[in-house]
Amino acid sequence: MSTIEDAAINGGTEKSMSEKYVYYFGDGAAEGNGSMKDVLGGKGAGLAEMTNAGVPVPPGFTITTGVCRHYYANGRQLPREFGAEQDAALARLESSLGKTLGDADDPLLVSVRSGAKFSMPGMMDTILNLGLNDKAVHGLAAKTGNERFAWDCYRRFIQMFSSVVMELEKNEFEHIIEAMKHKKKVKLDTELTAKDLEALTLEFKRHVRKRVGRDFPQDAREQLAMARDAVFRSWNNDRAIYYRKQNQIPDDIGTAVNVQAMVFGNMGDTSGTGVGFTRNPSTGENHFYGEYLTNAQGEDVVAGVRTPHPIDDLEKEMPDCFRQLHEITKRLEKHYRDIQDFEFTIQEGKLYLLQTRNGKRTAQAAVRIAVEMVKEGLITEKEAILRVEPASLDQLLHPRLDPKAKVNVIAKGLSASPGAAVGIAVFDADTAAEMGHAKKKVILVRKETTPDDIHGMDAAQGILTATGGMTSHAAVVARGMGKPCVSGVSAIHVNEKARTMTVDKLVVKEGDWITIDGSTGRVMLGAVPTMEAAVSGEFAEFMAIADKHRRLKVRSNADIPRDALKAREFGAEGIGLCRTEHMFFAEERLPHVVQMIMAAPQVKALGEKLAAKEKQLDGSIGGENKKLKTEIAVLKKELAAPLKSYKSALAKLLPFQRADFYGLFKAMKGYPVTIRTLDPPLHEFLPKREDLMVDIATLPRATAAQKKEMVKKYRFKSVTQLKAGMPDLLRRVEELHEFNPMMGHRGCRLGITYPEVTEMQARAIFEAAVKIVKEGGSVVPEVMIPLIGTVEELKDQGAIVRRVAEETIAKAGVKLEYLVGTMIEIPRAALTAGRVAEVAEFFSFGTNDLTQMTYGYSRDDAGKFLPEYVNRKILPGDPFVSVDQEGVGMLMDWAVKNGRETRGKLKVGICGEHGGDPASVEFCHRTNLDYVSCSPFRVPLARLAAAQAAVRGTTAESDRR
Ligand code: ADP
Ligand code: MG
Ligand code: MG
Repeated sequence: MSTIEDAAINGGTEKSMSEKYVYYFGDGAAEGNGSMKDVLGGKGAGLAEMTNAGVPVPPGFTITTGVCRHYYANGRQLPREFGAEQDAALARLESSLGKTLGDADDPLLVSVRSGAKFSMPGMMDTILNLGLNDKAVHGLAAKTGNERFAWDCYRRFIQMFSSVVMELEKNEFEHIIEAMKHKKKVKLDTELTAKDLEALTLEFKRHVRKRVGRDFPQDAREQLAMARDAVFRSWNNDRAIYYRKQNQIPDDIGTAVNVQAMVFGNMGDTSGTGVGFTRNPSTGENHFYGEYLTNAQGEDVVAGVRTPHPIDDLEKEMPDCFRQLHEITKRLEKHYRDIQDFEFTIQEGKLYLLQTRNGKRTAQAAVRIAVEMVKEGLITEKEAILRVEPASLDQLLHPRLDPKAKVNVIAKGLSASPGAAVGIAVFDADTAAEMGHAKKKVILVRKETTPDDIHGMDAAQGILTATGGMTSHAAVVARGMGKPCVSGVSAIHVNEKARTMTVDKLVVKEGDWITIDGSTGRVMLGAVPTMEAAVSGEFAEFMAIADKHRRLKVRSNADIPRDALKAREFGAEGIGLCRTEHMFFAEERLPHVVQMIMAAPQVKALGEKLAAKEKQLDGSIGGENKKLKTEIAVLKKELAAPLKSYKSALAKLLPFQRADFYGLFKAMKGYPVTIRTLDPPLHEFLPKREDLMVDIATLPRATAAQKKEMVKKYRFKSVTQLKAGMPDLLRRVEELHEFNPMMGHRGCRLGITYPEVTEMQARAIFEAAVKIVKEGGSVVPEVMIPLIGTVEELKDQGAIVRRVAEETIAKAGVKLEYLVGTMIEIPRAALTAGRVAEVAEFFSFGTNDLTQMTYGYSRDDAGKFLPEYVNRKILPGDPFVSVDQEGVGMLMDWAVKNGRETRGKLKVGICGEHGGDPASVEFCHRTNLDYVSCSPFRVPLARLAAAQAAVRGTTAESDRR
């Protein structure tokens, strides 16, 4: 398929002999079919497929996406052959219905509907009743004997056409309607009479003339041409571009246009219009589900103007239509083997289907539907696995309200999108976006939302609307985003200007805390405590299906027992990364860490001097000998204090670390636990240089209170100590200052210069492990050395770990298996993996650092240019989010192959942020890694992504039908 750019390059005027621009559907058959989404768009393909299946669909024709692409590639010109094709299709439609477009007595009316390959809800508005003008409206009235209906159609048409095609604000017309309703003292549109509507129409026309300086177009064919081009234009409006970006839909595929004969839901009480789903899209329950309005036209239901009725009422009101609708949509569900989202209209007791598509659903619904469709024999397990988007599982891990919490329910609405959300009430999208980006928790409260609110919805914890049903914009978009939403809360009155929401006499102002529960529809005052999610019910059943089909193991990154337990709950099969230093920051430990860092360099310097002198002494004689001996004595005395301080700090840290590791081992019940030795540059544990300098300068003039605060801040015991200690501290901080700390003295480089630290950590690990074994438990510690570039570094550190391990195990007299391995995060380590594997028993790719070092991008600074790189497509995506398979991936692949050549059973995993990214998980599967490790909340996602990778891998051949 050619892209817009391709077409532009080729001049775009050429038409391949076979390209057809207009596809007719109707009279029992369609020229297209359901497999032609690329050409006809989703809506067009669906209309064709339904027509072919004998479903009652009003006839019409689809203008292909190719025409849209041509339009953009050729300075907004249509293909030469297009005009004739459109004329032919229109003529066929006219003769099929015995009506003519623009006819004054019996006009053919059509809708003009956009429809791209991927549905973009509410992005491009449909125009209904096209073909009406000042004469035809009388014809329509005479022909139907329904004057009110005719004027209702005309005023709706002017309203829609003016906003979509002539780009006036919808609101301008709403205001005119409101004024009319006010004047007539009525509440609902339906209460306006034929005369009112005629007057309204005149006012609309007057308004149009005033605003655009021309009369509302009267020529039906001109109307059609204008509407069609407006659809093409709308492909590139801001809302559409934003939506495509959010949903990774390519910009160059273009949209189709559907021109379809109108059927009317606004012809009285035996007419109506509605939307529905074959199953509940929010919970997944297998229950026919939908909403409708009598005497209404399409948009009314979704726009939230009136709150619609549940579809179950239709069974009572129009039982025949209900039965037929139920039967047809179930048939469509079987045909498409997926939940269907459909639109229908009833014109004077006769049912028409206007759209069907695979329904958007919450993750909760996706999971339940997948599990149940497997049980119903509708789809296979493998298909079920592919039906759920791994990233969407995040939604299921959303917090729920704590059932024990006291709640103050102020109103109830529809449970439009599940999950609990807590935040401060905000009444417009811009403020919501602003506060959201400032990491504030907000609930976006609107009368109803429109596509212009998307950025605010994006930034909010949840969405609350006063009007609108389960299929309103707010509900649909919130479900897509996986955000809690309560819609249609008719008891609240939202005043967007005053920034308040009122329920009876209670006024909630902007900034007040509220809580919504999208699973029950409750709206509560205050911040209600929430609880974390669990994997149970259908979710657990679904994960069990996924686990059956995956090869890759999934571990979790966890530093403390609480995270480890969470990870186990979510199905982690081990810990892939425990960052020991995270434990160093705890309140009761940091002083010991600082003490260790303060003493270490002195110990090192004096120790080296001493060693040199002692060596000299070995080969010396006579008087020199005596001098050396005194010097050695002096050095030893000098060394005594820092050495004692250093050793005692390490000794104090040992039991803390031992207890941490014991907790982790215990939580993981025999699953492997990978512990990494100290990694970050030491300055991270000390105060900031600038802080210290400022405080030292102000110290002489500081008040008692300020001094006290400084004592606390720098963890001294008294003001005297503070005064004496500050310069020392500053000196040490300055010594540790590095120009490029991420490539400086960190990782194994620390362990090599300060072997006592590695030794202490190893001791803590093995003492904890031995204790577990003695208690009858099982444990497999895997000690991991970070940031090696050469095998020699690993040899040095590995030797310390193994010596301590053997000592500890022997002393305890137990049997304990353990592994010593390394992270692969420096390109040189990956390149020399064959040699590294001589010493390493496992590899774990630290893809954060590996990406940083392979690209030479500092992760902390890349924010300044990466977004632009991605926007301008210099990079396909952020390589810190999804593994760069081409470059970093090549290093990984090389390292796996060469490592395993040296050591056949080399265990290989990944512990970077990428372990929780579906595309990266798939890559790890293909590269034959043994496991991925990610944060606890991403474990279910990684399990599913791994299963999908396995299913895709095995079905790639057999499923290519
Ligand atoms: P969207 O993609 O936003 O759903 P649609 O083109 O499906 O836009 O239509 C908007 C509304 O107009 C829907 O309720 C639809 O059912 C209704 N509609 C579209 N075409 C017709 C038609 N030919 N007759 C009656 N109603 C229509
Ligand atoms: Mg639709
Ligand atoms: Mg690292």
